[in-house]
Amino acid sequence: MAKASSSLQRMTRQRRILMEVMDRANWHPTAEEIYNVVRERAPRISLGTVYRNLDVLSREGMIMKIEETGGQRRYDGNPKPHFHVFCLKCGVVRDLHENDINWDGPPEATCPGFTITGFKLVFEGYCSACLD
Ligand SMILES: [Zn+2]
Ligand SMILES: [Zn+2]
Repeated sequence: MAKASSSLQRMTRQRRILMEVMDRANWHPTAEEIYNVVRERAPRISLGTVYRNLDVLSREGMIMKIEETGGQRRYDGNPKPHFHVFCLKCGVVRDLHENDINWDGPPEATCPGFTITGFKLVFEGYCSACLD
């Protein structure tokens, strides 16, 4: 009993640390990058535990997985839908504000026999570091 409750406490504490680490604007780290920061506060945590907790937190809608990067999966502490721009050279991801997009409105589509639940729109280019 005592053991179960202490492992639950440890899990809760690890997720709280993860949430605090992820609470940084415009940061889209890989699991390894998160692991390196979390390890300073929880030295005994493993990369597998970080992956597992990131999975749970994104399923619960606390954080967001960024799937469309192509390379390594990245995570976002801001779970609200927003656009990203990817650097084609170094892979860095930045938030792209809707006000800075020139368009008349998000595309909508219907398809017979299909329930469309969303769409993916990917912006890409080169970050300033890669343009030097
Ligand atoms: Zn770049
Ligand atoms: Zn973002």
